[in-house]
Amino acid sequence: MVNKAGKAITTLLTVALVILAIVRMGGLREKGPVSSHRSRLLMDTVVSIRVFRGEADRIDQAMEAAFGEMARLDSLLSAWRPDSDISTINLSAGEGAVPVDQRTWDAVQRIRSVAGLTRGAFDMTIGAVTRLWDFSSPEMAPPDSEAIRRALELVDPGQVLLDSLNRTIGLRWRGARLDPGGAAKGYIVDRAVGILAEHGIEAAVIDAGGDIGLLGKKTGGEPWTIGIRDPEDPGSTIEIIEVDSGAVATSGNYERFFIHDQIRYHHILDPKTGRPAPRVVSVTILAPTALEADILSTAVFVLGPDEGLTLIEQLSDIEGVLYLEGPQGLRRVASSNFPPSTGVFTLPQATLPPRRS
Ligand code: ADP
Ligand code: MG
Repeated sequence: MVNKAGKAITTLLTVALVILAIVRMGGLREKGPVSSHRSRLLMDTVVSIRVFRGEADRIDQAMEAAFGEMARLDSLLSAWRPDSDISTINLSAGEGAVPVDQRTWDAVQRIRSVAGLTRGAFDMTIGAVTRLWDFSSPEMAPPDSEAIRRALELVDPGQVLLDSLNRTIGLRWRGARLDPGGAAKGYIVDRAVGILAEHGIEAAVIDAGGDIGLLGKKTGGEPWTIGIRDPEDPGSTIEIIEVDSGAVATSGNYERFFIHDQIRYHHILDPKTGRPAPRVVSVTILAPTALEADILSTAVFVLGPDEGLTLIEQLSDIEGVLYLEGPQGLRRVASSNFPPSTGVFTLPQATLPPRRS
């Protein structure tokens, strides 16, 4: 009797253990700590997706879907591709609005609404001016003042014609141009993060050349570690911060520039002057979305340390750090809740994004 009962218990225990093992294995296979990394050249930069946790058999599909949507959005929003929606809008400037893809409509709406927080520092209609500046080679020279003055007359966010019923977008003034270049990467990263989530990914990082979107928590719940590039030595980080969630973007004067008569001219322009914004060297913003981080990093760069920090402090869920040119090298200023740096490190050469200047 005892033997029989003992045998039954042993059998039951064995079955239970086997089931537990299968469930655990299944659990591990389905949602365990997997790590998958893929990069593509998109939006004129290296875009990488790292998945840390998700359903293993859906990761490939998730990454492909995210890259596919990023490529599609880039082909709609690029001001440089002649067949993009943005180029079609620009070509028709002064001649009325043109029908656009739903994605373009959504992107332009979102960009306009975040840009509205920046006191004019971020202005998508700056395209008439940005096209005068050519940062494609280090031998360029600044455009002449009269050309800048004329182009500035075409910079006016109030001229954007939006018809939601017919889903058309236009520009009132002939020669005016939309330049979504300071916001598109952020918007696209947010969309890609959303697509990973829809595919059952629980933890991932998307990095589009300094515009970083975070999804979920790392295994074990530790924060994400983000390195901020050293403006004077882009092969090193100047500080390392820990971030729980959201997005991070950096705008730097070292990204695209030329030097003429010993003056550095870079690609972040003040919409009031049509010239590179002075004093700031780099701005890093933490925000709930990559779109906000992307736009605000450009805007705070333009506003400068005083007005820029005031804006950051006024916005909830936004933090930022600025590096400024000072007589004794770089000077650092940060918003009150910006996370403290936990160190610095030198990046291996292979992880550096290609220089675009
Ligand atoms: P990066 O493209 O290097 O990540 P940013 O996100 O700061 O840098 O965007 C800079 C780009 O934004 C410029 O190349 C230009 O196309 C556009 N831009 C420059 N100045 C402004 C501005 N004041 N408002 C809106 N867009 C701008
Ligand atoms: Mg930006």
